[in-house]
Amino acid sequence: MAEAAPPRYMAGMNAPTALPTPPRARKPDWIRVKAPTSEGYAETRKLMRSLNLATVCEEAACPNIGECWTKKHATVMILGDTCTRACAFCNVKTGMPRAVDPFEPQNTAIAAAQLGLEHIVITSVDRDDLPDGGASQFVKVIEALRRETPKTTIEILTPDFRNKSEEAVARIVDAGPDVYNHNLETVPRLYPTIRPGARYYASLRLLESVKRRNPAIFTKSGVMVGLGEQRLEVHQVMDDMRSADIDFLTMGQYLQPTPRHANVEEFVTPQAFQAYAAIARAKGFLLVAASPLTRSSYHAGDDFRKMQAARAERLAR
Ligand code: SF4
Repeated sequence: MAEAAPPRYMAGMNAPTALPTPPRARKPDWIRVKAPTSEGYAETRKLMRSLNLATVCEEAACPNIGECWTKKHATVMILGDTCTRACAFCNVKTGMPRAVDPFEPQNTAIAAAQLGLEHIVITSVDRDDLPDGGASQFVKVIEALRRETPKTTIEILTPDFRNKSEEAVARIVDAGPDVYNHNLETVPRLYPTIRPGARYYASLRLLESVKRRNPAIFTKSGVMVGLGEQRLEVHQVMDDMRSADIDFLTMGQYLQPTPRHANVEEFVTPQAFQAYAAIARAKGFLLVAASPLTRSSYHAGDDFRKMQAARAERLAR
């Protein structure tokens, strides 16, 4: 049966145009967030600086930084702050990265301990320049966290480890994170423009291989909407994710970080996110988070506990 089309808010000002610098679409009211001014925000920032750690919250200009950092939830971005790719949606700087910091694993563990994190999310830039794509640094970070703060649950959000994913995934999975996240980001049709250095099916296969190697690890993936994707294309991505046995889907609104990045083609309404979430739940995900401001690591600790409860309930049936 065909579902009713979810309501959409078209960002008309931002329609494709020949002008070199098109005006940016005005954000609807449901996207507005408060400026980060709290004491908790300042303390989190100071700690990250003192430990020489980068965060995706800052580098990706995440709209939730005020809320997350007030609660001292920061997502550490390892392997430096410079990426070897240049995706059209991402604000992280591109270039030749610096050498890997040998103190980063220990400093990440110190940050987790000092912030009192029950759950930590670790991500990284793409490091196509490194022979293992940076996999060994993920392993060292997981080992340092297990050593220094053993009660903290660990979620990793990795790049696709282009051309070396099999070995990289095996090493990281064997280090035993609680959640393995890798974002598909968008529908396959938009990969050549939005995620040109990556391959949709390679990313899917990566997630599938995590589950194959260790079915106990929760797998998670996310997409951004508002980039010009069609509703049925998003449903197909959900089906592909379920075929790869992915447990948790996150969906959020794409926001254009600077005029040089891909345009926002539409602002998807909160009601349309709810419609997507209902469809995703019906397709069998253990957990779905879908709202304009949902990001991969937003409320990740609470969602991890929900995912554990959902799995226990399903196994008990
Ligand atoms: S949603 Fe994630 S990236 Fe954004 S501020 Fe929160 S922890 Fe950082």
